[in-house]
Amino acid sequence: MTVRHGREFLSIPGPTNVPDAVLAAMHRPAIDIYSGEMVDTTMSCLEDLKKIFRTDGNTYIYAANGHGAWEAALTNSLSRGDKVLVLACGLFAIVWGDMATKLGLDVEILPERSRRAVDPDALRERLARDGDGAIKAVLTVQVDTASGVVNDIPALRKAMDDAGHDALLMVDTIASLGCMTFEMDAWRVDVTVAGSQKGLMVPPGLSFVAANERALERHKAADMVTRYWDWTERDGPEHYMKHCGTAPEHLLFGLRKSLDMILDEGLENVTRRHTLLADATRAAVACWAQDGALEMNITENAERANSLTTVRMNGIDAAPLLAFCKDECGVIVGIAIGPDISGKGFRIAHMGHTNAPMVLGTLGVIETGLAALGIAHGAGGLGAATQSLAAALSQQKSEAV
Ligand SMILES: *Cc1c(COP(=O)(O)O)cnc(C)c1O
Repeated sequence: MTVRHGREFLSIPGPTNVPDAVLAAMHRPAIDIYSGEMVDTTMSCLEDLKKIFRTDGNTYIYAANGHGAWEAALTNSLSRGDKVLVLACGLFAIVWGDMATKLGLDVEILPERSRRAVDPDALRERLARDGDGAIKAVLTVQVDTASGVVNDIPALRKAMDDAGHDALLMVDTIASLGCMTFEMDAWRVDVTVAGSQKGLMVPPGLSFVAANERALERHKAADMVTRYWDWTERDGPEHYMKHCGTAPEHLLFGLRKSLDMILDEGLENVTRRHTLLADATRAAVACWAQDGALEMNITENAERANSLTTVRMNGIDAAPLLAFCKDECGVIVGIAIGPDISGKGFRIAHMGHTNAPMVLGTLGVIETGLAALGIAHGAGGLGAATQSLAAALSQQKSEAV
């Protein structure tokens, strides 16, 4: 006998929960790809993505997962043999760098600080030594979905400015857009990459790139451009070329709905919701950590992402706990990924279409599992989470009065 039956909770950091309204928007027959409605859907999504990226630059939609947008960003703005600097802080920037190597770019990795965000001083120092401007682009993630770290993008931009370096700044926001504040233009990010299936609440299969004037200027001389990813083809007037072929209609219907939902809620409210749910999660983990083997993966509180929390279980196999959560209680918690933590930790997603019962339910189930399996942990994590949420919400209420 289990208490699993009922609605299964997906609490992994991507794909995330797809809202019923998004699913409903996709549940319809295909339409003529040349129809006014299809054209309007594409054009309004391209426009509204600018509001989410916070840019006046150009936006592009690809029928591809996040890896596709990575390739689009690189091939549109760089040339074979160009040097790029990858800022390590987990797994994802490294994989982006691996893709760059295979495309024929010359990749250098700025070593990571263990369990920390990228160090802006180290970036400034490295760029200051690049007097002849060999480095053409700096590649970083805002949130690394393995380590659970968030980088300070304005501080990284400032480090580049302080070094007087004119490399393009390319930021992967796949695990942060629609979750945490991101200001492409105000932070002077040149190329931004995003995906549909995390904070944007759409099934996997779409990804997005935004490019500013500087990136579009570099694009003119880039020699790795291929027809499918090509910004120039997509900037033309012909709707068919906005997708370089048949529009991914149903994913676009879903995206249209999710953008409406985000803009209706308001970006500030969306990021505030993520902050409160992340704070509650961190309160629970801090409690569990007091008396046992569990601890937060990222050591500095200010460097912990609001879209997911990565927990280490030092010396303890995480598989039985994750199996308990899934098989007994119907909650799928994310496995830990990365060389030093794989199998010995887990990731709690609080990303996209999540609210208080989803996060409190997940935390309650994890705490149930810790207790049922006799894993040493500080008691009262769920209580700490509810108190964190209560304090934030009562403060919000009194501010509103
Ligand atoms: C999920 C993710 C990716 C990869 O996206 P796919 O859609 O799986 O290709 C890249 N970067 C970050 C930060 C991610 O979270």
